[in-house]
Amino acid sequence: MKYISTRGQVAPTGFIDAILMGLADDGGLLVPEQLPQLSEETLKQWQQLSYQELALEVFSLFVNNEIPRADLKKLVDDSYSTFRHEDVTPVHQINEGLYVLELFHGPTFAFKDVALQFLGNLYSYISRKNNSIIHILGATSGDTGASAIEGVRGKEGIRICILHPHQKVSKVQELQMTTVSDTNVLNLSVEGTFDDCQRIIKELFADVDFKHQYHLRAINSINIARILAQTVYYFYAYFQLANKGQAEKISFSVPTGNFGDIFAGYLAQQMGLPIHKLILATNENNILARFVNEGLYQPGDFRGTYSPSMDIQVASNFERYLFYLYGGDAATVTSLMAQFKAEGRIVIPEQLLKRVQADFSAYSVDNEDCLNTIQEYHEKYGYLLDPHTACGVAASDKLAADGEVTVALSTAHPAKFDESIRLRNISQTYPEQIQALFDKPQNQIVVDGTNEEIKKQLLTFF
Ligand SMILES: *Cc1c(COP(=O)(O)O)cnc(C)c1O
Repeated sequence: MKYISTRGQVAPTGFIDAILMGLADDGGLLVPEQLPQLSEETLKQWQQLSYQELALEVFSLFVNNEIPRADLKKLVDDSYSTFRHEDVTPVHQINEGLYVLELFHGPTFAFKDVALQFLGNLYSYISRKNNSIIHILGATSGDTGASAIEGVRGKEGIRICILHPHQKVSKVQELQMTTVSDTNVLNLSVEGTFDDCQRIIKELFADVDFKHQYHLRAINSINIARILAQTVYYFYAYFQLANKGQAEKISFSVPTGNFGDIFAGYLAQQMGLPIHKLILATNENNILARFVNEGLYQPGDFRGTYSPSMDIQVASNFERYLFYLYGGDAATVTSLMAQFKAEGRIVIPEQLLKRVQADFSAYSVDNEDCLNTIQEYHEKYGYLLDPHTACGVAASDKLAADGEVTVALSTAHPAKFDESIRLRNISQTYPEQIQALFDKPQNQIVVDGTNEEIKKQLLTFF
């Protein structure tokens, strides 16, 4: 298995090089050269596997024999031993037609742990193999930073620096990042917005000498390892339902920001998992829902919502889907992305829009609807949804037909977004691991949002 760029200007590369490259050198995104096709028989065999066994089988298809199976098994086992639930990602039945896939049982109570626990161990493995130190640099609006830090704290051969906008992340998110005392972690709290943090990172990565000298690596969701790790729970959830005798028409509803999580579902489906429908749920930042419903990809005005991890206007994984939509035609993808850069929009022809609508249904959930859904499910079923999960559930309520079964992906534990949940007078008890954060000392450095300042901090830290 080799990896190629959506823009076609990178020589096919192996698995480890693809992980290290992050963003493709031609500005595109890396994708597997061909997708493995799973037979019904293989799917049957996989149906009884534990999460860890299944993850090992899925990764084996993608690592290109670059990691011996015993090493890969250890990477997988180490990555998921930190989860608090024995099923890693259990499904919880809400009613006849709806299940919630709980992806929040990892160390930071958000679904990003599923991929970043693995990526952290993988980076550490690569660092040992190559005998070189890996420096990870990233910006976060909350969940990614906490999850990435948990993935690598205390690990040999890795240093991580995360930028977050000062006092613009939730209290729990801030504590998760800043109460870590390992010396390989640096938190910079930047005076400015998330966009400022993102821009600084982009510019530092664009400084090729600096990037190469310090072996700078990225952790954002354009890394193909994150997508591959996320395909596993679609298989696992499907099998859990099939094992309960629920074999008919299973759909997935996915709260979406950067198009990463739902793209993983699309890959699982393309590999042969018979997913009925993929429901794409957005909040009021609904560029992706408008794309699916109208064929126009064009950012709107930024809206603040109760689901801040989905407050995204330009979805960084969208280009991967375009590549598949255009049958792997890298030249067309390149010109569409150039057009997007110049004109700020992409329009697709009618017959391709039909394809898109066969691949996805989409719905955008407004702020009021999000809180109503949290309240309704709490009152009716005694189940507390976080605001991101509530968007997925609301979309499923709108789009699933009678008699269909939907699995709504739950991307965060409600305790992470208590500020929003309290608006409906719902009180919750924090899990002890979150409660304990409030008593720990914080380590963060508040800095100006300039490239020079960040570079100065990095040079001291590296
Ligand atoms: C990151 C995140 C999302 C969006 O995931 P994408 O892969 O960007 O679509 C949804 N919910 C939560 C809680 C997240 O942290």
